[in-house]
Amino acid sequence: MSETVDQDSTRLAAAALDCPAERAVLKEAADQETVYQKKGDQELDHQQTVQRKIIHVDMDAFFASVEQRDFPEYRGQPLIVGGNPQHRGVVAACSYEARKFGIHSAMSSAKAYQLCPNAIFVKPRFEAYREASIAIQGIFKEYTALVEPLSLDEAFLDVTGSELCSGSATLIARDIKQKIYQETGLTASAGISYNKFLAKIASDMDKPDGLFVVLPSAANDLLESLAIRKFHGIGKATEAKMQALGINCGRDLKQWSKSRLQKHFGRMGVYYYGIVRGEDERPVHNNRLRKSIGAETTFSDDLIDTHEMLERLHKLAEKVVSIMQAKKMAAKTITLKVKFDNFEQVTRSHSELLGFQNLDTILGRLPQLLEKTDAGERRVRLLGVSVSNLFALNNEAVSPEQIRLI
Ligand SMILES: [Mg+2]
Repeated sequence: MSETVDQDSTRLAAAALDCPAERAVLKEAADQETVYQKKGDQELDHQQTVQRKIIHVDMDAFFASVEQRDFPEYRGQPLIVGGNPQHRGVVAACSYEARKFGIHSAMSSAKAYQLCPNAIFVKPRFEAYREASIAIQGIFKEYTALVEPLSLDEAFLDVTGSELCSGSATLIARDIKQKIYQETGLTASAGISYNKFLAKIASDMDKPDGLFVVLPSAANDLLESLAIRKFHGIGKATEAKMQALGINCGRDLKQWSKSRLQKHFGRMGVYYYGIVRGEDERPVHNNRLRKSIGAETTFSDDLIDTHEMLERLHKLAEKVVSIMQAKKMAAKTITLKVKFDNFEQVTRSHSELLGFQNLDTILGRLPQLLEKTDAGERRVRLLGVSVSNLFALNNEAVSPEQIRLI
């Protein structure tokens, strides 16, 4: 997770603020749960392992929904939360009404403006989102201690051992959705299944205000018919690569042996092999470790001078170091991100043997990393610095020799 706003994390969906009646859907889902339980018990006998119950909760068009809740004049309107279209901003989130025009998060605001000149553009109000996020996280904790937040607006919950709602994960998810709506006025979608991957897929199936269960018996059909781009963890580049290899849906992916996938996709190939078979043993971690700390800037005018780029990078590195210090974290890897004027993006990384938390180590590496890109020959619209391979410094097991502080 990056300290900068994760724009992709706010996926688009409808901002159903009027909370449509969904009793019928819920009842159906509750009935399905019975099947799920039975199936679970059967599998329990068969496999001698505990069938897990995982819920993935994801707020619907989170930032935009908070804005529409707080400003009634935005309701029913194509609303874009993000940067100014005149100043190279990007769309952080947008309402369902804006989505109808083909607008989506991470798109440039200028493009969004082209698609819908009547859209309302507003700046993000992170304090309001954070406040809603804290309320939501508090609700999750009423149901289980095993909560793994993925961003401000989504989390995995493991409710395997819970006796709440007669032990029904679907009824727990329904309860959580209702409580979120009562306390925040916002809608969420929930996915329920026996592992994280399927729960995440499920929360996306019935958006907005959705509740969707993937039963063990239904997982196979669902995964086989699922388009490759819907597989969480398969981004645009991998999707294109797979399509070139004739892999368009889960069924195609399943034809591939583990070794062949590994040959083409490395370690991720093994992961793809498992998930398409509904296998995902990753536990729900309630203290998710931060994976990276980063800062980036999109410039209002492209940069061409590398000295100027290094000056900008210096400022970004300072931000990163101040966050590392506040979090008492050290890192081993520095990554430079460069986005060119045609939106093509490259990253260059360097890893140190020893951990570092100081500005000089980062500043010392940035010129070399920048040199490994076409920056200077090509115009640059965005620069970013991040550090990863993080570890905590408040751990006494870390000796001073393991980290270079000065
Ligand atoms: Mg969301």
